[in-house]
Amino acid sequence: MSGKNVSGILAPIHQKKDVEDESDRTYPQMGMSPFSLLTLKGGYYPHFTSWSKTREKIDLENQIFTSITTPKQKKVQIIVEITIITKPFILNVSVNCYLIRTSNGFILIDTGRPKKRNAIEKELESADCHPGDLKLIILTHGDFDHCGNAAYFRKKFGAQIAMHKADSGMVEHGNMLWNRRKRNILTRMVFKLLFRLGKSDRFKPDLFFDEGYDFSEYGFDAKALEIPGHSKGSIGILATSGELFCGDLLANVGKPDLWSIIDDSYVAHASVEKLKSLQINTVFPGHGQPFPMELFLKTH
Ligand SMILES: [Zn+2]
Repeated sequence: MSGKNVSGILAPIHQKKDVEDESDRTYPQMGMSPFSLLTLKGGYYPHFTSWSKTREKIDLENQIFTSITTPKQKKVQIIVEITIITKPFILNVSVNCYLIRTSNGFILIDTGRPKKRNAIEKELESADCHPGDLKLIILTHGDFDHCGNAAYFRKKFGAQIAMHKADSGMVEHGNMLWNRRKRNILTRMVFKLLFRLGKSDRFKPDLFFDEGYDFSEYGFDAKALEIPGHSKGSIGILATSGELFCGDLLANVGKPDLWSIIDDSYVAHASVEKLKSLQINTVFPGHGQPFPMELFLKTH
């Protein structure tokens, strides 16, 4: 499947609160290549559809999500349309950007590595996101694999870039160790050589936000959560409908877990505790496939 995108309609991502039995709630099993593009359809405009109807669509339009089981007669509300753009990162690990279609344009959460720019750009276009349509680029944190195309996309699409101030020096100076804990000389050298943002890709963000920032003025019913640990300025974006874009606090490489690269594990665990107190259905991580929060909570 390398180099070829596949698209499909994924299961509904929000379930009505009055569902009687939580135990048979099911989640899509996404046996997809990390080189794929997947569209979670539904539109921003709340409407209802049934699981079985959605499943029918999935089965008809592609063969990817075959392992979904469908509770009968349950109604779900589909809130947002999310296009997941996944590109290889390092070894068997991929990195994700998430394109959210809102009622008045698009929001892009993270932008991928500069090396994958053309491929990501093509996927934005095929999702119908053209210059003028992208209103906001939200960066979950300052690492180059998430911010690598922010400056380029800002210029091309006329979008604004928003992130937390505590990571801003990383993207302004291209130094991924800015405002992070001190590392040994070898790590510093590796970061300087491999994990950096080239001069032309560095930028000053247009907008800083912190805890509770409300994205509804961009047509996205979601709020920012400060979830430091991977970096000091790591943020999550939690949609009212229960989807969490968690950046690199959590990942799904092998299984849903804390991401292996953590700057401050005490702080990271405090961020996880904070997530536990919130209503979260599906987690969309920076690395790996989306997963149900329930699955993560079973082991944490
Ligand atoms: Zn990352």
